[in-house]
Amino acid sequence: MTIEKLSDLGEFGLIRRLQQQAGGREDLVRGIGDDCAIQRQDSARELLTSTDLLIEGVHFDRRWTGMEPLGRKCVAVNISDIAAMGGVPKTLFLGVACPPTISVAELEQFTRGFLAEAQKYGAVLAGGDTCASPGPLMISVTVQGDIACGKALCRDGAGAGEAIYVSGTLGDSALALTLLQAGKGPDPQLLSRHLTPAARVDLGRQLSDRQLATAMLDISDGLLSDLGHILAASGLGAELELAALPLSGPFSKVLREDPTLIDLALAGGEDYELLFTSPRQDLARAAGLVPAVTRIGNIVPREGLQIRCRDNSLYHCSRKGFDHFS
Ligand code: ADP
Ligand code: MG
Repeated sequence: MTIEKLSDLGEFGLIRRLQQQAGGREDLVRGIGDDCAIQRQDSARELLTSTDLLIEGVHFDRRWTGMEPLGRKCVAVNISDIAAMGGVPKTLFLGVACPPTISVAELEQFTRGFLAEAQKYGAVLAGGDTCASPGPLMISVTVQGDIACGKALCRDGAGAGEAIYVSGTLGDSALALTLLQAGKGPDPQLLSRHLTPAARVDLGRQLSDRQLATAMLDISDGLLSDLGHILAASGLGAELELAALPLSGPFSKVLREDPTLIDLALAGGEDYELLFTSPRQDLARAAGLVPAVTRIGNIVPREGLQIRCRDNSLYHCSRKGFDHFS
């Protein structure tokens, strides 16, 4: 018998298996497979829940991540999954496994950042768990939020011919990390996108309230990988325009020196921007959408994801989206 390796199955293969094995229940509107689970509360509201693990050496490096910004980031990346459904964050739960090397003062800095960020989104810390870690610092954050019944934006709602939009700019966080790992100091704007990303809660709420989007998620593993989740769930394909990708000033500046870095905007990850589809073709100019959204392509009826250059040739991205096991 051959022993199956996690690296062959992949993170998403493993999740698909869990999805097939887990049962459902009448009040569970959505279980495994979207940014949040959705549970019916009463005839008006649904409960949204999402959980994230953040492990030292995998998700963060204490050589360049201070404890206060780390506390902030743990909250923002978790609340980003509530934003990705169009919901309102309410309650946070925090699990911490502390290595012997961490001081009380450092943990207090972490808590300060965590609580300040939670307050920014109107969320309250309501519980958690604390233990010792024989290895790295490990953090688990769970967020609950709510949304009006039937308003949550899921990954499977895209339709053929719809426009694909993304909020903000892409690749800043991944570029900052690449520069940090190379021992270079990134521009402060790039650095803050990596160390203290923002969750796009207000934008997500507007899109769900005004019924402007059909499918949505937040980009955590890279544009191509996360768009792939919408395409797989919706059974469709997409065409992206390379020249349409929204890039920040500091990103464009570094890109001029090394054009291959465009792959960080396509597959770098940790953008925490909202990626959504819409039958509306005019949202890039729609009033009140903050941050601005950019149209980057179209949903097509055939399967597959193609990226077109200005001269209409196809672009092949050499990077794969983030998968914990490959
Ligand atoms: P996101 O990037 O939005 O946080 P993930 O890719 O981490 O989403 O997870 C995709 C889906 O799989 C989510 O619905 C999540 O709850 C579920 N999931 C991931 N790992 C597990 C697990 N170990 N057990 C049950 N569900 C899981
Ligand atoms: Mg998500």
